[in-house]
Amino acid sequence: MAERDQLRLRGLLPPAVETLENQLTRAFEQFRGKANHMERYLFLSNLRHTNTNLFYRMVLTSPEELMPIIYTPTVGNACVNYSHIYPFLHPEGSFDGLFISVEDLPHLDRILENYRNSLPDSELRPDIAVLTDGSRILGLGDLGVGGMGIPVGKLQLYVAAAGIDPRKTLPICLDFGTNNQKNLDDPLYLGLRRKRLDGDEFYNAVDTVLATLHKAFPKMLIQFEDFSSEHAFELLDRHRERYLSFNDDIQGTGAVILSGFINAVREVGIPAKQHRLLFFGAGSAAVGVAKQIMDYFVLEHGMTEDEAKRLFWLNDSKGLVTLDRGDKLAQHKVYFARDDNEGKQFKDLKETIEHVRPTALIGLSSQQGMFTPEVLQILTKINERPIVFPLSNPATQAECSFEQAMIHTKGKVLFASGTAFPRYKDEQGVEHVPGQGNNMYIFPGLGLGAILARPSRITDTIIYASAAALADSLTEDERKSHLLYPRIDRIREVSAVVAAAVCRQAVKENLATEPEILSILPVGETAEVGSPAWIQLVRHVQSRMWSPGYQSR
Ligand code: NAD
Repeated sequence: MAERDQLRLRGLLPPAVETLENQLTRAFEQFRGKANHMERYLFLSNLRHTNTNLFYRMVLTSPEELMPIIYTPTVGNACVNYSHIYPFLHPEGSFDGLFISVEDLPHLDRILENYRNSLPDSELRPDIAVLTDGSRILGLGDLGVGGMGIPVGKLQLYVAAAGIDPRKTLPICLDFGTNNQKNLDDPLYLGLRRKRLDGDEFYNAVDTVLATLHKAFPKMLIQFEDFSSEHAFELLDRHRERYLSFNDDIQGTGAVILSGFINAVREVGIPAKQHRLLFFGAGSAAVGVAKQIMDYFVLEHGMTEDEAKRLFWLNDSKGLVTLDRGDKLAQHKVYFARDDNEGKQFKDLKETIEHVRPTALIGLSSQQGMFTPEVLQILTKINERPIVFPLSNPATQAECSFEQAMIHTKGKVLFASGTAFPRYKDEQGVEHVPGQGNNMYIFPGLGLGAILARPSRITDTIIYASAAALADSLTEDERKSHLLYPRIDRIREVSAVVAAAVCRQAVKENLATEPEILSILPVGETAEVGSPAWIQLVRHVQSRMWSPGYQSR
């Protein structure tokens, strides 16, 4: 009651003074009483705006129940319907994030000033922005300003999984137009009614926004999200040396799959150099993942880039990608195109498998069911323990399910998928847990590490360190259960380890600028896992994680 008097709240609230646990019980009761996932999404969205602590306590209390509501798959639906479900936010209250339209480009300083004035504390500075232009939202395509749901949702995962302070997160949606006719025809569409900028106009506009953001908040980390593939690589290349930034679709995905692959190689037990990887699908995701896994052979096994490259085969809709196939290969496929096919072309996946004899088959094709029983059986003939990663999302596009992979490899498979598959109970009644290459294992810890060490840029080797740390984060018990990824309910513990590894690598590369980290890890301190310096570093990271509690805002 003393606190109520201090805050001048006596009489404005019902008399019972409650604990957060009481409130949590009520909140779950209301949440679970909703008719469908969209209603639950709206309930949570409203709660986040009105009671941040209670919202995050809910997320951390029951992550398996809430994550699919605040992020995929429900968030996809929310983005599609954004202009219809947009809440009637009070102009002086909280807001979803920054909308920066092409018409705002001359007024960016004013936008940032308005943002600063909206903060509850004038000293606050954003630590991290997630930035999208809504052009390739999940697998749903161009959703224009509806894409705002993604930075909003993703930053909630940064808070929940890595304890980044929610008041220091900044969702940004660029509105450089939309090519989605449905949006343009919708009278309630909340974005600009114009076609998208392209080419130099697009890149120059992004340059202007980033330069202004950097001037205002020089230490802020920028995470690029859900830009169309044609812009995503170029944007990253253009800005990664200049600003503290990364792209989760490219680098986060690459790192999380690399980590699962490292653990699969440990399980298979044949020398790393004898692995042969066949990618089914040769789009931006496949090429990004393949390049990240290549680093493993180069950095951990001393191979040259060319030697490592030769362990990879890509297969697209026309068959095995070879230099002499006769069609003009898209630029991103040329790097891995084979020249050792002796003029022979392979169209059918089974034929390609007989030719390549892969130890690992990785699906990034969005083609459901392409890893047929026969394909899985052939792989099991070639390998004692075949590695099969059907990574396409959602489940309706996955190349095979966990159950199919278990049945047709007689339980020998080392499996990771993009989507969450149910556990599989074998004939003896033993339950097997599928691996899920969920980006959430990497980006929160990577983001937190970058915020705490503030390297001048995020290098490939920092990304690699995050993947290696994730691979090493499995407990004895998880290894005994042959898991490729840690259990998701340990996510905060895992994020702390990933963040610590990012800090350590940033110091090693002489890029870290944050004095606190440099005092724990002076340049030259190797901080091997388990050493006093490493333990101190992990503790420091954990001490900097925000947790929902009673702290006043
Ligand atoms: P994309 O459209 O750029 O690439 C698809 C590729 O599949 C193309 O190379 C295409 O030629 C090939 N393909 C299509 N039909 C084929 C067929 N019948 N046989 C062989 N190849 C065929 O898409 P993308 O952005 O590279 O994403 C691909 C998939 O990866 C999506 O389903 C996406 O959800 C998934 N993905 C998963 C994760 C993850 O698990 N964390 C991350 C990123 C992307």
